Formats: sequence, structure tokens, C-alpha cells
Amino acid sequence: MTETDPYQREREEMVECQIRARGVRDEGVLAAMRKIPRHLFVPKGCERAAYEDRPLPIGEGQTISQPYIVAVMTEQLDLAPQDRVLEVGTGSGYQAALLAELAGTVISIERLRGVAERARENLARAGVTGVRVVVGDGTKGYPPEAPYNAIIVTAASPAVPEPLIDQLAEGGRLIAPIGPRDCQDLVKLVRRRDGVETIPLGGVCFVPLIGQFGWRGEGFL
Ligand code: SAM
Repeated sequence: MTETDPYQREREEMVECQIRARGVRDEGVLAAMRKIPRHLFVPKGCERAAYEDRPLPIGEGQTISQPYIVAVMTEQLDLAPQDRVLEVGTGSGYQAALLAELAGTVISIERLRGVAERARENLARAGVTGVRVVVGDGTKGYPPEAPYNAIIVTAASPAVPEPLIDQLAEGGRLIAPIGPRDCQDLVKLVRRRDGVETIPLGGVCFVPLIGQFGWRGEGFL
């Protein structure tokens, strides 16, 4: 951002103290997090908290994820400039903005219309043009733009939704929090010619992925 960005120092401290210090080494990811103005992706009045080491509420019971978790998930996607990426769970649009710094095409799908609309506004305010936000059930993926080189799911489901695995290109990477409602394991799937490799990455805590191939019932659908 510009030299007059009032949060530039907070952002640099966030990257050094919360992210690099905990082992994220991908210079592209670190540069993107230094650049994207996270305070433009939180509700008005919460800008000061945007660079703290925690998730924040963004309305409608949803959250913008903790910066460190965003960094780990982004690094694990191993993005290249020509990659096509699908994000499931647009939320604030912050993760999508980072993806747009690192990949060629970014589609982000959000279940809640109001959340998607605010994400579009946030992205526009931040000057991010490389993200297409779609409203829908992301547990079904987004077939019109498939296959994807990378898929990132930023809400938690009991198992990886099958349509997402089907929409992964050969060599493609998928990152998703998988497990019970209260806490989950972050898993990475890599589609190989002869099958899908699953790599566990550690414990996390995400809001539920609600849809046909995620959590259902309890008045959610
Ligand atoms: N990536 C977001 C960010 O950068 O702010 C944070 C996402 S928030 C933790 C999870 C989001 O997933 C919520 O906005 C929620 O509405 C959305 N979500 C839940 N189920 C979904 C589904 N089936 N399809 C698309 N979005 C879904």
C-alpha cells in the first residue's frame, strides 16, 4: 500500500512476529500478507484489531481467520502464477485477496449473499480486481471453472466434500479443516495420477461448512 497507510507497521509486525517467527517461509506468501490491507476486511470500528493474533467476527456468525492460519493454508497450496484456484467460504474476502496476489484465476464461493456482497465491497476498496465472488453452496465446488490447481476450504466439514476432490486437476492441492464441529484437523490432499495423497497438518478450529456435502440439518438447510 502507500506510504501513508496507517497500518503498514502493524502489518509488518504481524508478518514477522506471528507468521515468519512460527515457521512460514514462503517469501511470496509473506510479501502478499505485507501488502494486502487486512484492516479493510474487518467491520468498521475493528480496524485496530485487524492485525492481532486471532480470528475476528465479521457478522452473520462468521469470522475472518487468524492471520497465522491463513498464512499456513496459503503456503501449503504451493501456488504458481498461472494456477486456477477455488476458495470455498469467501467470508471477508481477505484470503481471496491473498490468493489473487499469488495465482492466475481466483474464484471464491460464499453461501451467504450478504457476506458475499460485503466481501466484494472489501475487495474493491482494497483495489483487488483478480477475484470473482460467487454465491452458492461451495460443498458442490464450482464446476463451470473446474478443474482447479488448488482448492482451499475455509470452513469445517466432517469429511472432504467429494465434488471438490473431483474438481481437482492432476497435481492439484486441496486444503481443508476436517472433523467434528468444535475442532478439526487441517488436511492437505494432493491429486496424483494413481490416487489422492492425504497429509495431516495439525489442529484448527473453524466455523461449519454448511451444505449438501458438508454439515446438514439443525435448521441450517
Ligand atoms: N476465508 C474467509 C476470510 O478470508 O475472511 C474466512 C471464511 S469464514 C471462516 C467461513 C465462511 O464460509 C463463512 O463466510 C461462511 O458463510 C462460509 N460457508 C459456510 N458454508 C459454506 C458453503 N457450503 N459454501 C460456501 N461458503 C460457505
